[in-house]
Amino acid sequence: MAAKRIYAFGGGKAEGNKDMKDLLGGKGAGLAEMSNIGIPVPPGFTITTEVCAEYYKAGQKLPKALEPELKAALRKVEALTGKGFGDPSDPLLVSVRSGARASMPGMMDTVLNLGLNDATVEGLAARASDPRFAWDSYRRFVAMFGDVVLGLKPERKEDRDPFEVILEAKKHAHGVKYDKDLPVEALRELVSEFKAEIRRRKGVEFPEAPQEQLLAAIGAVFRSWNNDRAIAYRQLNGIPAEWGTAVSVQSMVFGNMGDDSGTGVAFTRNPATGEDEFYGEFLVNAQGEDVVAGIRTPQKISELKERWPEVARQLEAARETLERHYRDMQDIEFTIERGRLYLLQTRNGKRTGLAAVRIAVEMAEERLIGRDEAVLRVEPEALNHLLRPVFDAEAKAAAAKGGRGLAKGLPAGPGAASGKLVFFAQDAAAWHARGEPVILARHETSPEDIRGMAAAEGFLTAFGGMTSHAALVARQMGKVAIVGCGAISFDYHARTMTVETAAGPKVLKEGDWLSIDGTAGEVIEGRLDTRPSEVMAVLVERSLDPKDAPTYQRFAKLLSWADAARRLRVRANADQPDQARVAVAFGAQGIGLCRTEHMFFGEGKIGPMREMIVAETHDDRRKALAKLLPVQREDFRGLFLEMAGRPVTIRTLDPPLHEFLPHEEQGVAQLAHDTGRSVEEIRAQIADLVESNPMLGHRGCRLGISHPEITEMQVRAIFEAACDAAEQGVKVEPEVMIPLVASVKELDDQAGVVRRVAEDVFARRGRKVRYLVGTMIEVPRGAITAGEIARTAEFFSFGTNDLTQTTFGLSRDDTGPVLQTYLAKEILPVDPFVSVDQDGVGALMKIAVAGGRATRPGLKLGICGEHGGDPASVEFCHRIGLDYVSCSPYRLPIARLAAAQAALRERAQEKKVAAAGSAKRARNGKAKPAGAAKAPARRARNAAIGVPRARKGAGRRPRARA
Ligand code: ADP
Ligand code: MG
Ligand code: MG
Repeated sequence: MAAKRIYAFGGGKAEGNKDMKDLLGGKGAGLAEMSNIGIPVPPGFTITTEVCAEYYKAGQKLPKALEPELKAALRKVEALTGKGFGDPSDPLLVSVRSGARASMPGMMDTVLNLGLNDATVEGLAARASDPRFAWDSYRRFVAMFGDVVLGLKPERKEDRDPFEVILEAKKHAHGVKYDKDLPVEALRELVSEFKAEIRRRKGVEFPEAPQEQLLAAIGAVFRSWNNDRAIAYRQLNGIPAEWGTAVSVQSMVFGNMGDDSGTGVAFTRNPATGEDEFYGEFLVNAQGEDVVAGIRTPQKISELKERWPEVARQLEAARETLERHYRDMQDIEFTIERGRLYLLQTRNGKRTGLAAVRIAVEMAEERLIGRDEAVLRVEPEALNHLLRPVFDAEAKAAAAKGGRGLAKGLPAGPGAASGKLVFFAQDAAAWHARGEPVILARHETSPEDIRGMAAAEGFLTAFGGMTSHAALVARQMGKVAIVGCGAISFDYHARTMTVETAAGPKVLKEGDWLSIDGTAGEVIEGRLDTRPSEVMAVLVERSLDPKDAPTYQRFAKLLSWADAARRLRVRANADQPDQARVAVAFGAQGIGLCRTEHMFFGEGKIGPMREMIVAETHDDRRKALAKLLPVQREDFRGLFLEMAGRPVTIRTLDPPLHEFLPHEEQGVAQLAHDTGRSVEEIRAQIADLVESNPMLGHRGCRLGISHPEITEMQVRAIFEAACDAAEQGVKVEPEVMIPLVASVKELDDQAGVVRRVAEDVFARRGRKVRYLVGTMIEVPRGAITAGEIARTAEFFSFGTNDLTQTTFGLSRDDTGPVLQTYLAKEILPVDPFVSVDQDGVGALMKIAVAGGRATRPGLKLGICGEHGGDPASVEFCHRIGLDYVSCSPYRLPIARLAAAQAALRERAQEKKVAAAGSAKRARNGKAKPAGAAKAPARRARNAAIGVPRARKGAGRRPRARA
């Protein structure tokens, strides 16, 4: 039997449910689920995403077999509503709605009021006893159908919507300001003028037959999966192109049936702050998109009580039912038709990072969800939002005093942003590409603007409410935004924005600096200084008492739950004591990478470093190194004290020496003076050190091998500092890390130096400290011969920045043009320098893990590339059994959360496998052996890292250390 193509809902039941998002799309699944749990939903049916795939496979044709199913489904809806599709006396009208698996708000198309034509419009008018309403619905339908299905759209960015232009002219002719004041006659004229425009510009006749309208609209909605903005949205959000969209066809209810009707959108909690309050907006006598499109600024949901107390009560009840049922904050659409409430959509609401943390923590405290679930609820990246700066209060006060406070709007996306003013999304993208921060200001934004919005620091709109498109996108992208700022207006052609300020109108031009405070909703002229967020003020500045910082408290609580769940440890990449302090505040359990070369750029250090490099004799070199020794020792001591007993990995010198030499006249002269040599000699020597490909040249352990005295000095500094710290009563655990090792012989050479010097220091100081010698795995040969390298190395740290560039053979300093093209052409799914390329670089990592642990079961494994703070990479590191990830201090909260989520997901997977296993055993009548639950997951992990399966009775295999 062929697969079912259509799933019905309505009348208190449905064929689908909330777990069928893949097939029915999020919207279809939500409509089905709401029908099942007794929420009032207009009846309809959903055509599956599989039909979308069929449609594309057949060269954009609907399968013939769909039609009979469609007829049957329509008959059910007719029965439930008592109306007839195409029946001129009592017509059934429907909406044809898009809806993919993942929510893509407003990116695809929807057609409302379908089924209207010159005959049915009269029936609708008679039934509703309201010709105005009927003709208003008809003109909306013709415009929407003309746009979405027949493709009559603006052609250039400055152009206005062609239907909008005709409407404006009509309003002008009748001397009215709002659509609602147009008389019926004008609406009738609009319908025929719209149709004429379609005929003129598109050369087609508007179809009168409802069946024909329906088939065409279904096809158009399928096609909208591939419109520019949907593609852009998919790229930004990593949604695969194969998914396709479902189509829901649903009987219409009308919010535009007069003053006892309306439409709205709401969130069961505040999506900007997370506060537990019903949050939303509605418009009286309006339909569908009107609220989201931001054409009229709507009323607050709290005002619903005064207008329609009974509806408000029902809506409040639906809010509670839905939140309890879905156990998450919901974003709902509703319509009130002549005093009756209907819900048209529910989905998990998008929220800011701030709100995500608050909602997760508070729902766990309300016991609506468990703590582990709370941890899984927050996107790791969202934590960034809690670290982002806000405007400095004094700078803001000064701006206000100086008359630079321009206007207020609705605070839709919290945070602070300054940038240059632009009015078009394309400009936002172009200016951003040349490195200029921009604020995108518009009448309202629409899904077409999505790329420009991604490029902007923030947005400002004149219309729309907290549920408008701009607000929604801001929350999702974590952008700063102010919407519904009624004081601003635009002249797009002149590229100016006029603000009605208390002091009179003020005109701003494209390119002028503008600041927006998305927390307070304030628009400020010029550029403003920022100050740290609450979390930063507590943890980094230490200027705020945690007791006075509720946001910080929730952040800390969530992370403490994450820490309880994770197996991976987290370390920081930090070179200086002050960075180490920040790292510890953000939860670092050690330092995973101290880049010693950064120390050389500090005050008073670069001189001796340069002398060391240009030294002609061993003696001169030793003299210069002797000057460096005490400074390095001090740095290391500070680091050890700050880390108070936590492990510290210190890498020996890595970059090519040329990077340390002066390039400008003055520096060269100084170096000549310090070394007592001529400027020419120094210049010649600098020229000598130039390499044609320094990234692959004389660097890493190669330096220490040709100049062992450099390694000696660094190691001496490390161990003397360790002894100093130990004398001060601080436990120390240095881990000396040799970079860029491709062969065990290289490591043997350098490890020999390390151990010799360590013993020497210990003998002189009369004390010993525990230490490890290890290596970075950052070239393919190192990964492949890891088994040999582990004979000497006591730990590995994956240097995934270099490993990525050497695996791809793509210099990381020259990725720009290549990656741009590759990402655009989807040759690479993501930038491999941001997220570990699991199939290539990851495969080498697995080889190294397996090889290393086979030689040395207790081998400590970590990662210290930029990837250590990328959630997907952290999850990968968990799966292949690393012991820790190391990242920059500010990304530690993200790494902690990502590590916890990886562990929790794995546990959920183990449970599933175990449950399946025990069901099978039960069938076979065998008892479950103790500890069996963990075995399948371990096997999966070992298989993933290439460890062969143990034979029965073989010894325990090495496992990841907890
Ligand atoms: P989107 O995914 O862009 O939100 P929707 O399919 O949800 O598109 O529809 C757009 C608007 O039209 C929403 O406000 C929705 O509530 C409204 N709408 C859709 N179907 C109906 C219907 N059958 N009756 C009344 N309003 C509807
Ligand atoms: Mg839409
Ligand atoms: Mg919707």
